Amino acid sequence: MTKLKGQCLCGQFSYESSAEPVATMVCHCKNCQRQSGAAFSVNVVVPSDSLTLKGELKRFDDTADSGNTVMREFCAECGSPIFSRLAANPAIAIIKAGTLDDTSMVQPGGEVWCDSKQDWVAPMTEARFPRNPS
Ligand SMILES: [Zn+2]
Repeated sequence: MTKLKGQCLCGQFSYESSAEPVATMVCHCKNCQRQSGAAFSVNVVVPSDSLTLKGELKRFDDTADSGNTVMREFCAECGSPIFSRLAANPAIAIIKAGTLDDTSMVQPGGEVWCDSKQDWVAPMTEARFPRNPS
């Protein structure tokens, strides 16, 4: 049964997840700011094998502060950021929450990379980490 569904801006790419989110985190890292063009990203973590995909994505292999590869996947047509995947943990996929059709279940449980948080952004959660604790 579909629990989550979403798409890119142009609609060329869409996805469904048969699982509920494992976690939802706000990320204030500079790379998420650059990729999204926004102040922070909101990331919904699901099991990779819960996803059904339709359409074409492109991928940029980013390097995290840890040295690990973060695969950033975006619509091949309109460029909307859709997923991040961690080379070190292929079991999970990280959905960019803004691409969900229904965001009513989005409730961040914590914030990472507060060291690079934009100054005007007020704290949103009780669990705030200067970097990424994992
Ligand atoms: Zn698109």
